Amino acid sequence: MSNQQVEVCPTCGHSMPVIPGYVTWCEQCDWNISPTESDAKSPTLMRRLQSRLGARSANLLYEELSNAAVSTHPVTLGTIGAYLFSFLLHAASIGMVCLAIHEIFWSRTIGEFMLGFIILAVSVVLFWPVKRKIHGMKLHRSDYPALHRLMDEIANQLNAPKVDRLVANSEFNAFITRTGMRRKSVVGIGIPLFSVLNLQEKISVLAHEMGHHANADLTRRFIVRQALRTLGLWYGFLFPKTDYLEIIGPFHYVIAFIRKRLADVVYYAYLLLGLSVWKQSQRAEYFADMTSARIAGTEAAVSALGKMHFAPTFFMTLKKVAHYRYSNELFEEVRKFTRSIPEKEERRLNKIRESAPASLDDTHPPTLYRIRHLNRQPVGSFGLSMDESFCEQLNQEFAQLEKATERRLLDDYRAWYIE
Ligand SMILES: [Zn+2]
Ligand SMILES: [Zn+2]
Repeated sequence: MSNQQVEVCPTCGHSMPVIPGYVTWCEQCDWNISPTESDAKSPTLMRRLQSRLGARSANLLYEELSNAAVSTHPVTLGTIGAYLFSFLLHAASIGMVCLAIHEIFWSRTIGEFMLGFIILAVSVVLFWPVKRKIHGMKLHRSDYPALHRLMDEIANQLNAPKVDRLVANSEFNAFITRTGMRRKSVVGIGIPLFSVLNLQEKISVLAHEMGHHANADLTRRFIVRQALRTLGLWYGFLFPKTDYLEIIGPFHYVIAFIRKRLADVVYYAYLLLGLSVWKQSQRAEYFADMTSARIAGTEAAVSALGKMHFAPTFFMTLKKVAHYRYSNELFEEVRKFTRSIPEKEERRLNKIRESAPASLDDTHPPTLYRIRHLNRQPVGSFGLSMDESFCEQLNQEFAQLEKATERRLLDDYRAWYIE
């Protein structure tokens, strides 16, 4: 008799062998094949939109891109409509504030004054700009010269402006964003993800983010994204949540009904606008992948995509290492797990790579399509000239980052979950 631990699948009752350190999933019905953290989050409007889109939309876009003549940002009726709508919405918001100011300062009756005051209060609550905080450790040029040189060289190759800031964080991903009034560009490096990538794959992920930068994806989407934010705020404002109006009697049902219908109108406007953004941003991912293949080579771009699915393995290892108080070798342990993968885990990763999800819970297209799209392009080879000492310096800087992140991750985990 083997002493292997077995669990029963909660969906189909099939028994599932448990391999410590790896995801326990059902080979019969695919239960838990790709556990994500997103399940815990409440369904935002964007999430509701994504679950409506489904696999078909992803497939349609993938097919559309097989036509070699497509451009990065095609001008379609949908995009023109989205920009026009967003523009009008912003104009209406500004108009609302102007109206409020007019009513307050040029009011002839107390009623007009009150109305102006209420409109102004609503506008302030709705449109007060929130500064998005970017989490992570700022990487200064003087401390990480090689990493900055690498980013400069990628920017150079792409004829793109240099990025303004680099940050490292403890997430299993990478990102590019713009922040502040001056819209500074920030590239975020998730050290857990980078810890399982080799240097070439790391460069491929950074080149993907720089591809978004070179194609000005964020700038282009800004107006529409802001409009989506406004609609989201209106939805939250209109949708009746509390019954404090009950004191005014049965009339409150009428108010609740009207508010619900108005919220529905906002919801459908959000869906329509969100759909155009969704298409744009998914398309942008394919083009960023192509940049990645051009800079780091097709092989590294494809293998880096495959390693994105190691996220659950990383979090399980974090949990395990955090419980051993004497061990601090988190990333070494993660690499050990990703180097010698058991057959069952290999089958899980392959299955994810080979299938498109039924509902889209991600801002990125299914890995299957991304890999296929990369493979139908002409094969790219490594496009940067890097001597050995530069590579060595880069590896050293990444090792330094791992050390700092490792300590913080374990301390945080132990403080939150164990102590
Ligand atoms: Zn099952
Ligand atoms: Zn991307």
